[in-house]
Order: sequence, then C-alpha cells, then structure tokens
Amino acid sequence: MHQIGSFAVQNMPTILHTITRNIAALSMLPETYQMLHKTCKDFANGELKPIAGEIDKKHIYPIEQIKKMGELGLMGIAIPEHLGGAGLDYLAYAIAMEEISRGCASAGVIMSAHNSLYLGPIEKFGNQSQKEKYISPFVTGTRIGCFALSEPNNGSDAGAASTTAKSDGTNYSINGTKSWITNAYESNAIVLFATTDKSKKHKGISAFIVDKPIEGLSLGKKEDKLGIRGSSTCSLIFEECKLSGENLLGELGMGFKIAMITLDAGRIGIAAQALGIAQASLDCAIEYAAKRQAFGSPIIKLQAIQQKIADMSLKLESSRLLTWRAAVLKDSGKPYTKEAAMAKLSASEASTFCAHQCIQILGGMGYVSDMPAERHYRDARITEIYEGTSEIQRLVIAGSIIKEYNFK
Ligand SMILES: Cc1cc2nc3c(=O)[nH]c(=O)nc-3n(C[C@H](O)[C@H](O)[C@H](O)COP(=O)(O)OP(=O)(O)OC[C@H]3O[C@@H](n4cnc5c(N)ncnc54)[C@H](O)[C@@H]3O)c2cc1C
Repeated sequence: MHQIGSFAVQNMPTILHTITRNIAALSMLPETYQMLHKTCKDFANGELKPIAGEIDKKHIYPIEQIKKMGELGLMGIAIPEHLGGAGLDYLAYAIAMEEISRGCASAGVIMSAHNSLYLGPIEKFGNQSQKEKYISPFVTGTRIGCFALSEPNNGSDAGAASTTAKSDGTNYSINGTKSWITNAYESNAIVLFATTDKSKKHKGISAFIVDKPIEGLSLGKKEDKLGIRGSSTCSLIFEECKLSGENLLGELGMGFKIAMITLDAGRIGIAAQALGIAQASLDCAIEYAAKRQAFGSPIIKLQAIQQKIADMSLKLESSRLLTWRAAVLKDSGKPYTKEAAMAKLSASEASTFCAHQCIQILGGMGYVSDMPAERHYRDARITEIYEGTSEIQRLVIAGSIIKEYNFK
C-alpha cells in the first residue's frame, strides 16, 4: 500500500512519471537538434513536470520556469543572434516546443504565443528601431508579448475585425475589445490588429505594436479555462487608447496579411505543443499499464491495451513527421501554409485521441487529478481550437489541394 495524493490506494502501481521514449527519428537529424532536444527534455523532466499539476490546479503563471526558459534561449529561439535570440530555426523550435509541452502544456502555450505570435511578426515586418525596442529586451523570459487578433464577435472570421484605429494624421486612437488573448495578463507589449479603413474590409486592417500598460487599455477578467490553466487568457479593452505612427507594424492595410502569415508559423508551434501533450499521454499510459495488474498479469500484456498503444503511437509519430516537414519547408523559404495546417490538424486530433486513450488505459485512475491523464485530456482540447479550429484547417488544406489541381 502507498500514498497517491491524499488517498491511501491499495494495489496501485507506483507511478514515477519519469519514463519517456527516445524519439527514433531524431537520430536522422544533425547533432545540434539532438543536443537541443536533450536540454529541453532534461528541463521538462526536472523543472516542468514536477510543477505542471499544481500550476494547473491553482491557475499560476510559472514565472520562474519561464525565466529559466529565457536563460536557455527558448524565449527567442528563432530570433537572430544579433537581436539577442538563439538564432535557431523552426525545426529547432518545433523540437523544443514538443519537449516543453510534454513537461507542461501551459509553459508550452506561453512559449508559443510569445515566440510565434509576438516576436515572429515583429522580426518579419518590424523596422530596425521596433526590433531593438520590442524584440531584444523580450528574449530573456522576463518580458512577454501577446497577439491580439480575435474579438468577441469574430474568431474564425478574423477579417471582420471591429476594433478601430482612427488616425488624426499623426496619431491613432484605438477603440474596441480583443478577446481570448494568451499571455495578456503578464505581457509587456502587444501585437494588435485594428481596422484603419472599414470600407476596405480585411484589406483595411492594420497591425500595431502596443506597450503595456498604456492609458486607455484595461484588462477583462481572467478566463476560467478547461485546460492550459497556468497560462492567462483575457480580453483587452481599448477606449480612446492613443498610439503614435511609430507603433504601426508594416504598412497601413497590411494587418490581415501579417496575421495570416503569423498564424501559418504559429500553427507549427501549436502542432508541436499538441505532440508534447500526446507524448506525455502515451508515456503515462505505458508506465501505468506496465505496472497495473489485472487477472494476474500487467495490463500491458492485454492485446486490447496494445492496440490502443499502437494507434496512439501511429497518430503521434505521423503527426510529428508532418510537423517537422512544415518546419523544414518554412526554414527553406518554401510555401508551407497547407503543410502547417495539416500538421496542426493532425497533431491536435492525435493529442485529443492519445489523451482520451490514456484515460481509458488508466481506468478510474485516469479520471482523477492524482494522475496527470485528466490534465492532458483537458490541455489537449484547446489545440483543436486556437490558431484556427480544425474546421478552418480543413478549409485551408482543401483550398490548397484544389488549387494544386490547377483547374481552368
Ligand atoms: C485558451 C484560448 C487562447 C486563445 N489565445 C488567443 C490569442 O492569443 N490571440 C488571439 O487573437 N486569439 C486567441 N484565441 C482565440 C481563438 O483563436 C479562437 O477562439 C478561434 O479562432 C475560434 O474562434 P471563435 O472562438 O470565435 O469561434 P467561431 O469562429 O465562432 O467558431 C465556432 C464554430 O464554428 C466553426 N466555424 C466557423 N467558421 C467556419 C467555417 N467557415 N467553416 C466551418 N466551420 C466554421 C468553428 O470551427 C467552430 O467550430 C484563444 C482562444 C482560447 C480559447
């Protein structure tokens, strides 16, 4: 008999949560990626797994762990070295993101929103002084950024933004509400999308970089979420918030394009986050099944359990290859919109599937918070929603495939 949580549980296997399998495909990659993987794996096992349950229960932003991730170079991983970043590529980002999310999916989304959605567009579309002001101080894990596109009345239909940026010739006045913004509570700056010319519809949307705090901006309540509860999500309410022309990111009317290009890259990050949750679910299921006895032997010997393990691994490993493919295409400057959508769709559905099967393999122990399975299940679900729902990914994929047929 031993203790799990506050309950004395008879005949339960001791779960140490230490196992994770080697990723065989990693051996095909150059040593830099393998070393990065090892660093992130050790960090996830040593610093994230032990706190993931508690920050989920108490809705705590893991401030110390994010700082350490900054020290490891993970909070500016794909930012060039001359701006203070680690100067690595998107394949490295995907590998690191999977490991961090395997340890803690909340830390994963904080890292993902900061790297892909905040730093990414400023690095691609910002001018030199914006990069110096809004990138270099933001790569250490002490300053965090967020990305404000969604609104109460438009998420999937992002082109219908109703937040406005009215110009008086020199300055802009922002009015409107952005909703569901990850990292909003902790952030020190925002990449914001607002309409500068309503008559042009989505071509009238512009992007801005906004310091936070700033007069005219208030925060809504922290959302009480199903999962990723260590990350903050809330609304940003703009009322006559004044910005100067220097805050414009890219050109006037370029905002929708900036948002779509940013989300293409972001989907690789969310795919990798989903892989991490799926891998954590598989690890948990296998460790439990190897120790749990039923009818005189460990349940891992039952073919019904082995079939689940096979299906989980197949979905996980095929999604990982799709994710790495999208990252490699991005790194080599080739189009990757369809591939990023495929990676995100496949990995997020794999994640939900693996977490669901993990609970099934654990039986009753899968349903209680003494074990991480129920957290993985709650965390996995968001990966099918943000940065484009699964329905939107299917539209993107089908649109690209139909174009490839080149019908006249
Ligand atoms: C925890 C969390 C964090 C988030 N973080 C951010 C963030 O940092 N920044 C940000 O800008 N946003 C963020 N979001 C918002 C997120 O991107 C949106 O919730 C998502 O894009 C879906 O938009 P919606 O919620 O308005 O759903 P809706 O667009 O209203 O969709 C509702 C349903 O209709 C379906 N649907 C809509 N249009 C179509 C269509 N054309 N064809 C088929 N089906 C369709 C959808 O797939 C979905 O099933 C976050 C959301 C959450 C929950």
